[in-house]
Amino acid sequence: MARTYVADVTLFDGHKVHRRRGVLIDGDRIGWVGPHSRAPREARTSRTVDGIGRTLVPGLIDCHAHLNFDGGADFAREAAEMDLPLATIKSTVNARKHIASGVTTVRDLGGLGTCQLAGAIDRGMVPGPRLVAAGRALTVTGGHGHSVGFAREVDGADDVRRAVRQEIKAGARAIKVVATGGVLTPGIGATFTAFTPDEIGAAVDEAHAWGRAVAAHAIGGEGVTNSVRAGVDSVEHCVQLTRATAQLMAERGTFRGPTLSAALGLVEHPKEVPDYAIEKISSVLDDAERAQALAMRLGVRHVCSTDAGTPFNPHGSAPLELARMVAWGMKPLDAMVAGTSSGAELVRLPDVGVVREGALADLVLYDANPVDDIAALRSPRTVWKSGEVVSGRASARSKAART
Ligand SMILES: [Zn+2]
Repeated sequence: MARTYVADVTLFDGHKVHRRRGVLIDGDRIGWVGPHSRAPREARTSRTVDGIGRTLVPGLIDCHAHLNFDGGADFAREAAEMDLPLATIKSTVNARKHIASGVTTVRDLGGLGTCQLAGAIDRGMVPGPRLVAAGRALTVTGGHGHSVGFAREVDGADDVRRAVRQEIKAGARAIKVVATGGVLTPGIGATFTAFTPDEIGAAVDEAHAWGRAVAAHAIGGEGVTNSVRAGVDSVEHCVQLTRATAQLMAERGTFRGPTLSAALGLVEHPKEVPDYAIEKISSVLDDAERAQALAMRLGVRHVCSTDAGTPFNPHGSAPLELARMVAWGMKPLDAMVAGTSSGAELVRLPDVGVVREGALADLVLYDANPVDDIAALRSPRTVWKSGEVVSGRASARSKAART
């Protein structure tokens, strides 16, 4: 079996930074990790990658994307022309874009054909990141996303429960509930409370029984609180946040996916995107900043959720999302934890997001250390998925590594 030894590298293992490490990639797994000076004999007979001055990190995890969508300005038009074949083609193309950015796991939170794509990637039919697909999102009748193929309308706790079972039967590995209105659906307020606590509770109860995590799309404060109390695993957007709810999130370990790229993609292009979207996002931007500061202060755990596919938010923007989280006050180390081990915990893939013996060899090598400067994420040198180089340079061997 093919072995690669990354020699004398700075390692961010998903939790902290270690200097002068060696990491042995053995087949699709990490065979050994430890001080470079104590490298095992197999390391000497393996292909060697010079790690001096470089940093190795777990493959990044984007916990919120919509592979059906390209990230163009006119979301409504893209939605109107969507059908299953087109959605599948777009998703196949978009999935690949994540790999080049150092993302080796993506959670798709609402789309057509995404469960089938996940299976095709797993079988090696098409290249792409590990895909944890939610299938179609659940929304109330007339709720956010109803006009877009990626959501299905469902009302009442029994129907929510049935819909969860149907999506799981169709291959969903996560469940998405749209707990409030949204920015990109015209005619419904962004902060509108959609599902009742009862309905969200039914989704959580059923999804957890099947071992699936629940992501709640929630912008308005009541919807955020309803979702957290109901026991969802992550609140996406999580814009209006009270102190009590933030405290509850911290206690329960509910993850927060701030989706800054979705908000800023709109705010930074006011002329190109529809007026209703600009009006809605502008009305809650201050709330978003307050929520971010409050959540960080109270120790709420974060994940990297780009919401890629929304306007001016292209796939492969996880490095930018993490940089934005840092720009909004997060320490680079915490952003890196969010983008790796926390994301893995949320998507329930314990063998990714960390560098330890026996974990899957999903890794990214950088020429600089993103924990020192998050901008380093923009230029991945080599990306491995399951021990195979899937992007960048296959070999970084140098004289230094041979001696
Ligand atoms: Zn979304």
